[in-house]
Amino acid sequence: MYIKNIISKRPYVIAGPCSAESKEQVFDTAKSIQDVADVYRAGIWKPRTNPNSFEGVGEKGLNWLKKVKEETSLKVATEVATAKHVELCLEADIDVLWIGARTTVNPFYVQEISNALKGTHKTVYVKNPPHPDLGLWIGAFERLYKSGICRIAAIHRGFYSYKKAVFRNDPNWEIPIRLRKEIKDLPIICDPSHIAGDSLLVQDIAQTAMDINLDGLMIETHNYPKTALSDSNQQISPKQLKNILNKLILTTNKLRDEKHELELLDFRDKIDMLDSLIIDMLTKRTDVVKDIAKLKLQNNLTIFQFERWLEILNTRRQKAIDDGLDKEMIIELFEVIHKYSILLQTSIIRK
Ligand code: PEP
Ligand code: MN
Repeated sequence: MYIKNIISKRPYVIAGPCSAESKEQVFDTAKSIQDVADVYRAGIWKPRTNPNSFEGVGEKGLNWLKKVKEETSLKVATEVATAKHVELCLEADIDVLWIGARTTVNPFYVQEISNALKGTHKTVYVKNPPHPDLGLWIGAFERLYKSGICRIAAIHRGFYSYKKAVFRNDPNWEIPIRLRKEIKDLPIICDPSHIAGDSLLVQDIAQTAMDINLDGLMIETHNYPKTALSDSNQQISPKQLKNILNKLILTTNKLRDEKHELELLDFRDKIDMLDSLIIDMLTKRTDVVKDIAKLKLQNNLTIFQFERWLEILNTRRQKAIDDGLDKEMIIELFEVIHKYSILLQTSIIRK
């Protein structure tokens, strides 16, 4: 893919309310953030989980965004989900369109949007689908690219998780890191607001995004966050936005201080050694698993034994608690180890 660079500085900042609510709210918020943001965001068609929630002001919001574009230094962006949305945004000359998580998930809609954009030079951001399917996310960029859209960027907004967690959407950082490897020149912008779900966590997530060298931030900002008609928990005020941006420590791939660099190398050596020990232990464990498989085969025993699985879970969880480790981490680890033990035993017994 030949991708045109649309990122003029780092971090590239996209800010603005979750939803456009009124002419005043749209304009006042824009005025208050124009000195720190590059692009102004506001959703006018809102994909809500429940139809009784506020679903956006619709088409009339486009005029409010046009006014922001005319009277501030900001570019304007809104979410599109259908060809009709694209058509209306093209008429209103909206600078940037973004495809939301609930739309990226559906190739029919992404194709429809791509077709509607053919022959234009619009900038399009694509949010990740709600589940961590990198292929589907990449597929959306390919659909746009085939329609001649090469001003594109990814927005990492985290992934839905059915498990109770600190974040509204699990950041699963390895997915944007893998995307970086798959499409080298594609700018990746982090949306800490939708990952956090809570205004207090936005700073930390934004910092992590900078630490892994993402290119920009999309941060939901509202002039009166508490009164927001959607996502009020996670929105911040223009003043808070400025604070967060000021506090960010921008890292490059190289550490600035050499002394720290040596210290870091030393720590990394230790981690490398410990990881290698973990792998040695897993090799030993796998040998035992193979012996168990043979024994089960000879005695006609079932592979998966529920009682034994519960015992593994309980004892490992207790040990994690006793040793002061995060028990969720240990449970997840053993779920993976146990899954692969069962797979290995199954393949041995089949043979
Ligand atoms: C939004 O940006 O307000 C939005 C609806 O986000 P997402 O598509 O990431 O859920
Ligand atoms: Mn939102």
